[in-house]
Amino acid sequence: MPQQCPFCHFINNKPGDLWVVGETENFYAWLEYPEPRAKGQTNIVPKEHKESLLELSEKEWEEAMFLLRETVQRIMEGLDADGVSVTMNVKKAGGQVVPHAYIQIFPRFMEDENAGTPTGAIFPKREELQDEDIFQEVQSSIKSADIGSGKPPKQRPAIAKRDVKHDSGDEEKDEEEEEKDEEEEEEEDKRNKSAADQWERMKRGGY
Ligand SMILES: [Zn+2]
Repeated sequence: MPQQCPFCHFINNKPGDLWVVGETENFYAWLEYPEPRAKGQTNIVPKEHKESLLELSEKEWEEAMFLLRETVQRIMEGLDADGVSVTMNVKKAGGQVVPHAYIQIFPRFMEDENAGTPTGAIFPKREELQDEDIFQEVQSSIKSADIGSGKPPKQRPAIAKRDVKHDSGDEEKDEEEEEKDEEEEEEEDKRNKSAADQWERMKRGGY
């Protein structure tokens, strides 16, 4: 931990001074203090020093996203917010002002002067980027970037693919296939249930 890290300073020496609204094993959700820019502005912060969000492991990302979602729900419900904006500022150029990773939640209210303005509004449209050649160049640069794994970008199917064929017209076979489908559904239910259990464990901080 760098000596100058204000987050580590509070986490390690004065945790009682933090306005905590949520917690998992490795993360806090605390209210921005002392100068919030929105009612209920909250930071999701790893308890251990991480220079930026890029240093989080895959598992920590999941945990952070879980706490983020839960906190957003609490804010919507508890403060009667009309919406939220979530920002991740990575590195100095990206607007990260503390050398310790954090995700910000800004509750949004219709009565606020800035209601409806997306946080992306700080980026004006850039006409010089609206060019097919540039799109191709940018796409290829991003996709071919070496991020250490040596693999092309992962493509993960959002849902389990089912190979269902109905071309035989054979009733018996169709029945078999239906049974198989049911088994697959049961398997999926089991997977969903185990994900829900994991969720519960994370909530209790036992993740
Ligand atoms: Zn720190």
